[in-house]
Amino acid sequence: MINIKYDSEVIYPYTYDSSNLRGSADLLLIPKSIDELSESLKYCFDNNIKVTISGAGTGITGARVPFGGAIISTERYKQIEISSDLNFVKCGSAVTLKELEDYLEQLNRFLPPNPTEYNASIGGNTATNASGARTFKYGAIRQYIHSLTIVLMNGDILYLTRGQNFVNDNNATIISTNGNNYNFNIPNYQMPNIKNASGYYVRENMDVIDLFIGSEGTLGVFYEIVLKVLPRPEYILGGVIYFDDNNKLFEFVSNLRNLSRGDNSIINSRLIEYFDRKSLDLLKPKYNEIPDLAVGAIWFEQEYSNENEEILLESWYEFISNFTTLIDNTWFAMNSKEHERLKEFRHELPLQVYENLTNNSQKKVGLDTAVPDDKFNILFQHYLDKCPALSLEYVVFGHIGNSHLHANIFCKNDEEYTKAKIFYDETIELSLSLGGTVSAEHGIGKLKTDYLVKMYGDKAVESMRNLKRDLDSKYLLNVNTMFLEN
Ligand SMILES: Cc1cc2nc3c(=O)[nH]c(=O)nc-3n(C[C@H](O)[C@H](O)[C@H](O)COP(=O)(O)OP(=O)(O)OC[C@H]3O[C@@H](n4cnc5c(N)ncnc54)[C@H](O)[C@@H]3O)c2cc1C
Repeated sequence: MINIKYDSEVIYPYTYDSSNLRGSADLLLIPKSIDELSESLKYCFDNNIKVTISGAGTGITGARVPFGGAIISTERYKQIEISSDLNFVKCGSAVTLKELEDYLEQLNRFLPPNPTEYNASIGGNTATNASGARTFKYGAIRQYIHSLTIVLMNGDILYLTRGQNFVNDNNATIISTNGNNYNFNIPNYQMPNIKNASGYYVRENMDVIDLFIGSEGTLGVFYEIVLKVLPRPEYILGGVIYFDDNNKLFEFVSNLRNLSRGDNSIINSRLIEYFDRKSLDLLKPKYNEIPDLAVGAIWFEQEYSNENEEILLESWYEFISNFTTLIDNTWFAMNSKEHERLKEFRHELPLQVYENLTNNSQKKVGLDTAVPDDKFNILFQHYLDKCPALSLEYVVFGHIGNSHLHANIFCKNDEEYTKAKIFYDETIELSLSLGGTVSAEHGIGKLKTDYLVKMYGDKAVESMRNLKRDLDSKYLLNVNTMFLEN
């Protein structure tokens, strides 16, 4: 027997996420088990009620924000279990990244990609193919997803395991536990070969499980997720390096990227993260040691073994000194307390951005584009030249190792918003013209659907709608997320 809540005060906390978007819903269901989840979806299917799936609500594209209909919250799926060989962890979709990380730490294991927002759920991370600082070395969460338990809009249940079901000649078939056959065509647009979280994942002869990862809840609800995990590295060297010249900072990043991707260098970073001067200004009240002369900073981390510690430290020191006069201001980290400080420094930035917005009732325009590495100099120079010329408050930061930066422009009124939006559109145009993506990390959600059309074209987006209809025949699940209904 499913329990339906209609009280608007109870529903309210599920009607927004970490973007500015606010919605509303008529009813809320919080199913306890997979059977209840299936029953809840079937109830909505039979009654033609649109459903929005709610994870932890840390998304920044409005993806989980409902506009009418029902909300199904996954919050009760908190089960967590490690395999006997310690290589796989089975998680309920509501387990948060923090809960998973703490659990794995006791077992000396870790989940490599490391998205920044610890309150996000593993279900949400799977639905958005989340990535993070360590994606430079380890890729996005997709690569660690081994199997998925999914409930479709009509209540049918699917178990998908990596390596067991592939697309053949653009066509795929999946069979639900009650024997229903789903046969569908995969859209055949070309995805850019870079970090990307825009639209359904499509590749020739791909594994069918990859279609669901990053599908932003438009194809089914994840009940349980099995992730591949790795042994924690023995030792890690980290550092925040300050630069007094942006050209030198850019050169440093290009060199570090090449060394880390080559085979023969002792220098081999697992993350390369950027902070522009405006980001440092935002952090300065909490971190007074930030040097005034710095125009930007880079955070790096490298895994190593005990034997080469001395030579590694010397190599890094020598390498850094070729690119900055502020080498003595570098914050190095070798033990867990020092690493925690650098992690917090990085995490503090999006938190400050969020606080800035809520405390000052401002609006934000946030870019999440990435481009191929050999075109990144153009995007980087665009940010350096055009952001100050806007005469608005902004920060530019993020995953420079993947040629992927977040530019956030803060707007106090409509006039500023219009100005920021023009810059946003120009930057997306530029990124796409360089072979880039609209969203490398946060997904399309409800805020960027127009830009998905710009990226792939009308025909490709229509083929996404057709695919959705094959798995959600009444078109009820997470409607108007990723692409508009028509
Ligand atoms: C301060 C801050 C830092 C951030 N840093 C990062 C970062 O480093 N990397 C990154 O990738 N993102 C980052 N994000 C964005 C956000 O954390 C991710 O998009 C995250 O994956 C969303 O998870 P959630 O559980 O909060 O999902 P929600 O916001 O609840 O939902 C997001 C989407 O996933 C769907 N969904 C949720 N659960 C399920 C499920 N069980 N089954 C099917 N669909 C589901 C929803 O319907 C919605 O479409 C950050 C956000 C903030 C506020």
